[in-house]
Amino acid sequence: MLTGRSPSPPSSDRVRPDVAVVGAGPIGLAIAWRCAARGLRVVVHDPAPGSGASAVAAGMLSPVAEAYFGERQLTGLLLASAARWPAFAAELAETTGVEIGYRTEGTLMVGLTGDDLAEARRLWAYQQGLGLPVTPLRPSELRDREPALAPRVRGGALAPTDHQVDPRLLVPALRTAAQRAGAVLVPQPVRFLSDVDAPVTVVAAGCGAAALTGLPVRPVKGQILRLRAPDGVAPGFRHVIRGYADGEHVYLVPRADGEVVLGATVEERSDTTVTAGAVQRLLRAGVDLLPELAEYDLVEAVAGLRPGTPDNAPILGPLPDRPYVLAATGHHRHGIVLTPITADLIADLVFGGVPDPLLAPFRADRFGGAAAVAASGGPEPTLEGDLWS
Ligand SMILES: Cc1cc2nc3c(=O)[nH]c(=O)nc-3n(C[C@H](O)[C@H](O)[C@H](O)COP(=O)(O)OP(=O)(O)OC[C@H]3O[C@@H](n4cnc5c(N)ncnc54)[C@H](O)[C@@H]3O)c2cc1C
Repeated sequence: MLTGRSPSPPSSDRVRPDVAVVGAGPIGLAIAWRCAARGLRVVVHDPAPGSGASAVAAGMLSPVAEAYFGERQLTGLLLASAARWPAFAAELAETTGVEIGYRTEGTLMVGLTGDDLAEARRLWAYQQGLGLPVTPLRPSELRDREPALAPRVRGGALAPTDHQVDPRLLVPALRTAAQRAGAVLVPQPVRFLSDVDAPVTVVAAGCGAAALTGLPVRPVKGQILRLRAPDGVAPGFRHVIRGYADGEHVYLVPRADGEVVLGATVEERSDTTVTAGAVQRLLRAGVDLLPELAEYDLVEAVAGLRPGTPDNAPILGPLPDRPYVLAATGHHRHGIVLTPITADLIADLVFGGVPDPLLAPFRADRFGGAAAVAASGGPEPTLEGDLWS
């Protein structure tokens, strides 16, 4: 096992953990589960488990649709984690008896206008060039799959391996799994890492990691809506739909219980207010793509803070000057899809003491001087209110 400070005397063995995890979001809880399942004594510190970004997240598992230009290493990690999701979901369901809304119908990517389609096709060509499964569909083929799509939709493509899960079911299930494996939850915040008494500390505090470690993790605000099909029926579509609509980028995630998640803004801000303009833009784009949404109930408008990093990729592994403090943060738009692989790689590191080569591109020391800039003032600003995941 990776081991830092000297073991405590036998009299305190009952209370002193082998590993302390700071943060009980999906990342911290999954790491706690994996570590406890290996027989390690685990304590998880969080005053409000599951109250971070995961509380609002859509739950798309979209390594293909979110394979963006210039992010090849991140795409590799996303694909590797998505490949672990079927077994991860099955194990979680078996361990807890809880269904987490894991669905495999796939993702449709669509363009409303000719310009939207041209923009989308540039990305699909890039994704196909990486060898990813993206199948262009004619409008008639699109409507065969999803008749509820607006007749104006000009074209689309299918990413059959991009799935979804419900984060509001996932996080409580992970908490149950971690606790059943023996992890102990301490409902208090950690103000300083020096307050934590454990040989190894894992910082999985989402946006809270910056204050604890000085790592360049910044809040990236996302406003998101939840609608509900009338009369308790399931939504009139089955795929996750990611659409370009008159220049706006939105996604629609249908749940079996009638809920539809419609998101999301991407804003370089740290507040969680919901603005009328964002709600208007999301609804307009959503209804343009799927007109029946206009008849749905609007049940929630909320904002969350993604833990962003300068290169949009997570920070995984030891702090540069503190080998027994492991970062597992900065998952930005991808923390749900990256939950299984993060948990496995960090638990392997804690248990075996040797970093998996997969961790190499995501080391905490990769930012160099850029880290200080980002930590103090954030990265280059993007357009406030830009819509996407
Ligand atoms: C609008 C929106 C949509 C999203 N959609 C998707 C999606 O479709 N797919 C996807 O993969 N990802 C999505 N994400 C991103 C995803 O939600 C995050 O990447 C993920 O939640 C990160 O998990 P985490 O456990 O690291 O952090 P969080 O979920 O933010 O949890 C952090 C936890 O740490 C605790 N904490 C913080 N500071 C401290 C401290 N000092 N001491 C103790 N505890 C502390 C908090 O209370 C919280 O419980 C979305 C995010 C947003 C905002």
